[in-house]
Amino acid sequence: MRLKIRITGLIQGVGFRPFVYRLAEEIGLNGYVLNDTTGVLIEVEEQKEKLNEFLIRIEKEKPPISKIYSLQHSFLEEVGFKGFEIRKSEETGDKRASVLPDITICEECLNEVTNPKDRRFIYPFTNCTNCGPRFTIIQSLPYDRKNTSMKVFKMCPDCEKEYNLSTDRRFHAQPDACHICGPWISLYDSEGKLLCEKNDALEKVTNLIRKGYIIALKGMGGYHLICDATNEEVVNRLRKRKHREEKPMAVMFPDLDAIKKDTYINVLEERAVQSIEKPIVIVRKRGSTSLAVSISPDNTTVGVFLPYTPLHHMILKKLKKPVVATSANITDEPIAKDEADAFERLSKIADYFLSHNRDIVRRCDDSVVRITAERQVPIRRSRGFAPVPVVMPFKFNKPVLALGPYMNNTVAVGIDDKVFISQHIGDLDTPLAIEFYEETIKDFLKLFDIRPGVVVSDMHPGYYSTKYGEKHFKDKLFKVQHHFAHILSCMIENDVPEDAEVIGFAFDGTGYGIDKTIWGSEVLTASYKGFKRMFHLRPFRLIGGDKAVKEPCRTAFSLLFESFGDNVMDMDFIPLTQQERSFFLNMIKKNINSPVTTSMGRLFDGISSIIGLRHKTSYHAQAAIMLEQCAIRSQERDSYPFIIENDIIDYRPLIREVVKDLKSEKPKETIAKKFHNTIIEIIINISEFLRKETGISTVALSGGVFQNTILLENAFNKLKDKGFIPLIHQLVPPNDGGISLGQVIAAHFHNCYNKQI
Ligand code: ZN
Ligand code: ZN
Ligand code: FE
Repeated sequence: MRLKIRITGLIQGVGFRPFVYRLAEEIGLNGYVLNDTTGVLIEVEEQKEKLNEFLIRIEKEKPPISKIYSLQHSFLEEVGFKGFEIRKSEETGDKRASVLPDITICEECLNEVTNPKDRRFIYPFTNCTNCGPRFTIIQSLPYDRKNTSMKVFKMCPDCEKEYNLSTDRRFHAQPDACHICGPWISLYDSEGKLLCEKNDALEKVTNLIRKGYIIALKGMGGYHLICDATNEEVVNRLRKRKHREEKPMAVMFPDLDAIKKDTYINVLEERAVQSIEKPIVIVRKRGSTSLAVSISPDNTTVGVFLPYTPLHHMILKKLKKPVVATSANITDEPIAKDEADAFERLSKIADYFLSHNRDIVRRCDDSVVRITAERQVPIRRSRGFAPVPVVMPFKFNKPVLALGPYMNNTVAVGIDDKVFISQHIGDLDTPLAIEFYEETIKDFLKLFDIRPGVVVSDMHPGYYSTKYGEKHFKDKLFKVQHHFAHILSCMIENDVPEDAEVIGFAFDGTGYGIDKTIWGSEVLTASYKGFKRMFHLRPFRLIGGDKAVKEPCRTAFSLLFESFGDNVMDMDFIPLTQQERSFFLNMIKKNINSPVTTSMGRLFDGISSIIGLRHKTSYHAQAAIMLEQCAIRSQERDSYPFIIENDIIDYRPLIREVVKDLKSEKPKETIAKKFHNTIIEIIINISEFLRKETGISTVALSGGVFQNTILLENAFNKLKDKGFIPLIHQLVPPNDGGISLGQVIAAHFHNCYNKQI
């Protein structure tokens, strides 16, 4: 196996490459290390355990003066390196100034803020050239203090001295500040009345959290809502006020030991949680956990993370308890970032506001990752990762702007040999989200100083992103099919060569097809240049269109109708009245507001409802998540029958057997697991067929359904066992957050206007 690492940081000229060389030799790895325009590129090969060791030790044992600002890594197919070498830098010319992401507080700064003798003792905005905010404070380039939201703070003589001293850790640290000259924190009540400031505010806020109040805390990229994570009553109150009934909330812990007390965490999860990006890592809860049940109800997992700003550290150090730290928004709106915005939107949720007077120039949510199949799969690529570029093996002929999809939107720009993907924008279905979306597009074009030669959108005529493209870039718009974009993103991040072809499984909730219907269980054969749709699920109807997404019982009814015809009227295990049944049946038969779909996500929803797990949902993909959670508890190895005929995957035999199992009172866990096993078998079965037909043995797995760990892990392992090369996501999310990357790639390989593929 091969491990590919890209590091950005203070790593040139400090003995970093010799260090990498020695470490690789010691562990016994083949490969190379190279400086390039973005930092250091390392590729090493050996067995997985040795590569894990290398990955963990590189951060722990690096030379003390070297600093890592970002580390992207992925485990890939071996290419067969001989020995280990320090390669000569390839001069790739253009060294476009990249904007750094926000960087977690460094050890030295942490030591200062915890040392009572230091002049920065408990100063919440302590930073240096190695840490602190970047992406969220930069107004324009070049990155100088006058171009950041720190420009309003005039440095005191002490800070200025550090700033100008070339040997100082704060030499040209643009956000440099201290108690005397920098920003400060203030505590307000929910009416906006100032209660206290600075150290008093810090003292007071800790007590308020302990007493069970909800605090809106202004952080680096936006506000968090914070409360005691061990207090069931306050967590419930937060849920009610936030109108977030069941969607899991993230928990910030004082340190790694505290995480270990409440969760099971393996070596790679431990690395992820401590990594420079400090993402939220989804891990398994312990039975003995002290966390409030309502943090992730009906869920075996919880999202955990560690403090990443001085302020977080101080609060958690005083509190000595985990806190819920969830994005401050109402349902799916963007995270609040300004005082006025926060007070307006959060005054009915938060009891107190801990704010500060350093402006957040652009909002940036926390990132989320999950370790699956022993790889780090991004669920949301945002703070810490954005806007670190994904580096291409080619150069773009002209700048590309990708407008992304509708759900989990991100946008991206492609320029030179880099793709800069935006922070998480979210679903484009509220005025605030749309405003944030338009801001981000303008922001990225300005920040990276480009006028796009090609603009790429989804094909869905109803997506705001498509309409935006049609309105503003009509003459250079290029539309790319959604599932093809999923597969392209997976191909490029796995180093698939230019002339290669893959078998692509794009399983998700919704994507507009070239036949103008809703797709979502697409098996493609694809190259970078185009794709063929080889197989898809037998179509079924979404009763009430989008309504079916929130009410899986409608999909259940539809799937049962397909499998049993009018007998569905007597199937009493889905909780619908006789009147509703007649109504739905009529809609299906007369084709009233019930578009057809081939969505795999909806099939998961439907099964979840049929076996009685979830008939209505309160957050995206909840029914499918409940189905996965249910299956986790079963060891069942059996699966259901299915038929693949022509290009159709027929689920009807499966549904009939599910109903049979249900009637014979088989445990739900068994049925859920058998269903997962069936989907995995379908993947294997089709892959083997296509390999025989086409000779292609590389299989890309993409789309939101592959956030399901049972599915991803087992499909990955089984494909490997059968001699395939399975590709999964490690740099961008399998969900629609990765679409913008795929769109950029499509543009590069097509380079044409007013066309769609
Ligand atoms: Zn620092
Ligand atoms: Zn100062
Ligand atoms: Fe999708």
